[in-house]
Amino acid sequence: MTQHVPLLIGGEMLRSETQQWIPVTDPATQEVIAQVPCATVEEVDLAVATAKKAFETWKETPVSERARLMLRYQDLLKQHHDEIATILAKETGKTFDDAKGDVWRGIEVVEHACNIASLSMGETVENVARKIDCYSYTQPLGVCAGITPFNFPAMIPLWMFPMAIACGNTFVLKPSEQDPLTPMRLAELFQEAGAPDGLLQVIHGGKEQVDQLLHHPDVPAISFVGSVAVGEHIYRTGTANMKRVQAFAGAKNHMVIMPDAQKQHVINNLVGASVGAGGQRCMAISVAVFVGEARNWIPELREALAQVRPGLWNDPKAGYGPLINPQARERVLRYIQEGKDAGADCVLDGSDCVVEGAPDGNWVGPTLFTKVTPEMSIYTDEIFGPVLVAMEVDTLDEAISLINANPYGNGTSLFTASGAAARKYQHEIQVGQVGINVPVPVPLPFFSFTGWRKSFYGDQHAYGKQAVRFYTETKTVTARWFEDDIAGGPNMTIQLK
Ligand code: NAD
Repeated sequence: MTQHVPLLIGGEMLRSETQQWIPVTDPATQEVIAQVPCATVEEVDLAVATAKKAFETWKETPVSERARLMLRYQDLLKQHHDEIATILAKETGKTFDDAKGDVWRGIEVVEHACNIASLSMGETVENVARKIDCYSYTQPLGVCAGITPFNFPAMIPLWMFPMAIACGNTFVLKPSEQDPLTPMRLAELFQEAGAPDGLLQVIHGGKEQVDQLLHHPDVPAISFVGSVAVGEHIYRTGTANMKRVQAFAGAKNHMVIMPDAQKQHVINNLVGASVGAGGQRCMAISVAVFVGEARNWIPELREALAQVRPGLWNDPKAGYGPLINPQARERVLRYIQEGKDAGADCVLDGSDCVVEGAPDGNWVGPTLFTKVTPEMSIYTDEIFGPVLVAMEVDTLDEAISLINANPYGNGTSLFTASGAAARKYQHEIQVGQVGINVPVPVPLPFFSFTGWRKSFYGDQHAYGKQAVRFYTETKTVTARWFEDDIAGGPNMTIQLK
């Protein structure tokens, strides 16, 4: 019997009253593995009202108790690590090892949330004026909402609700309707870790449910991760409704290869960073920029990419899995055709990829284009598939100009043996996350995930210290205690004395 994915409201797993259900499919077979509801207007309202009520008690809960909940939660997630990764691999098609990475990178954020006491410390200055002290506190906002994409169904929900809740907020999560089973398991384990009812709600659906949250007067803050078009809509609508919004969006990430880099390091790292997870990572490298003589390595890169083959999640030899749905596959194939039509050289073409035993999967094989120019759609657009475009320039300055002219700014990397080149690159590049001989520079959670330009709308980023700033208000107190009751005359200036 097909599983009906529940809503989580007030600590209870509820079956939605909706008439609208969306099938969740195995992307390797198209088999329907679950049905996910589009929550009704009343259910979304109930989720927010329940979170609002729970906030009244949770905001008064001592910080060490909040930290202890996160300690129990990270421990439980570690105990269930492989089980969560199996659910994740089955609904996304990711290889088991990659699914484990998705879960692990989320657990690291929960570990970070365990430090909430130190993270939320304010500032103090004694004697800002005679016998007057000034100090600041961080206080939670209320009901925060999170809208997450399909491509990291463990890591990205875990970027959001543990940090928000550790700060003293309550939360409504709207995960991707394409792989809701992983976030539901994360939510179940959160309850099992002893989270009081109402701290975390999970509702399901798509645009309608998200729009209800964006207009809801009791939701002061929205975190979003997903595509550029939806990110722009979320940022515009959320801020027009006077909410605090952080919206992480799409990307086009370049790796620059200097001729002094070590060839085999470059090839190994580039293969994994470009076609790993079928290119369905916001930090995937989708453009390789070869500087000078490094261009001679392209034939060997092609050979290495040709060795990678997609396969089923539990096939240990598979390099990556299927794309998330048939429409995603069609989109990627359309881009490959556009690249050919525009005159780029498709030196490795994954369009006709077949995987034995899974004829209906959304497969696309590794694909490499050369002779690519900046106006081609395979360069300008995020393809979100296993397609790498190679470009050639003569100098590092040219590579930097090319990348800074691209509207996205999520991640980039430079492979070189030169400290001077690395220093120049990290200083001049207009991208928020830079790897030096590191292909996918996703920061660990004590830093923040700092995409720039079209890859991010807002100012405070995910996790690190910035997440605490995003999920709290700062209250600054200026205090004086009179030692006697002799009052002077009124002070008519704005100066503290
Ligand atoms: P998506 O934008 O289609 O969906 C993201 C979320 O928004 C889902 O929960 C979905 O239900 C909801 N949604 C979809 N259409 C909506 C609409 N019209 N109005 C309101 N909500 C809507 O993204 P996706 O395909 O699930 O994820 C892939 C995208 O996410 C890629 O562009 C990728 O680069 C991006 N991404 C970015 C980061 C980052 O940190 N910058 C991380 C992961 C993924």
